[in-house]
Parts: sequence; C-alpha cells; structure tokens
Amino acid sequence: MFRKKNVLKKSLGFLLITSILVSVIISVMVTANADTTHFKSSEFKCKCCGKLPSGGISQDLMNKLEVLRSKLGNRKITIVSGYRCPSHNKAVGGAKNSQHLYGRAADIIVEGVAPSTVANAAESIFSNGGLGRYKTFTHVDVRGYKARW
Ligand SMILES: [Zn+2]
Ligand SMILES: [Zn+2]
Repeated sequence: MFRKKNVLKKSLGFLLITSILVSVIISVMVTANADTTHFKSSEFKCKCCGKLPSGGISQDLMNKLEVLRSKLGNRKITIVSGYRCPSHNKAVGGAKNSQHLYGRAADIIVEGVAPSTVANAAESIFSNGGLGRYKTFTHVDVRGYKARW
C-alpha cells in the first residue's frame, strides 16, 4: 500500500512536470518571435509601453522588409515605428484603424537612402499593401490590399 502510494505520487509528479513543460513549449511556440535574418520583433515594440501585439509582428511584414533590405543593397533599416498600442496610436495622431495597431505596419528609415527611393523600391514588394510617402521616413504595411498616400 505504502509503495503504491509512492508510485502514484511519483507518476503524478511526473505528469505535472510533463504538462508544465508542454505548456511552456506551446506558449513559446505561439508567441515565438518572427525574427528574420536582419529583423527582430523586439525592434517593433511600442514606443510608449514596450508591448507587442498578442499575435506578434506579422511574419509577412518582416519577410517583405527583408526583401526590401536586399533590394536596397543590404543597408541598415531602422524601424522608427512598428507596433502601436491604442493609446500611443492616439497620441501620435495615427489613423483610427491604423495597421500599426495590429503589428502589420512599419515606418522605416534606410541608412543612406532617400525616403523617396525607399518608397519607389517598396512599390512592387508592397503591391498588395499600404505605402505612405513622408519627408523623413516611409510607411509600409501588409493590410492585404493596395493603398497609397
Ligand atoms: Zn504603447
Ligand atoms: Zn506608419
């Protein structure tokens, strides 16, 4: 009887540890950074609170930024604004339904490349997304349809 109890305790403990391990592995997989060769999702954190969207930064966005980066001669790309939490989006006067709210947009600066040149290069890569031309940076997003401003 005593031994049986011990065996039961041990196997329960083993089950507990296994289930904890499995849930840790699953949560790591679900929230896994969509890091690419030159971009870390941490670079897209909200400027006011350091948060990322629950679903992470769009993998499509990061992949397209990689394509853009190589198209422009592998120069360093700085993410000026990536994810914006609702209050930060309001604070910076972002659009009500801004793609920045969903981790699908980035305002970027490419080292040594004029924003207009960056935008021209982004045209075809983001043909099915948003492209905003600004004096000092370029906005790109992967909204799923073409938008230009
Ligand atoms: Zn924030
Ligand atoms: Zn933007």
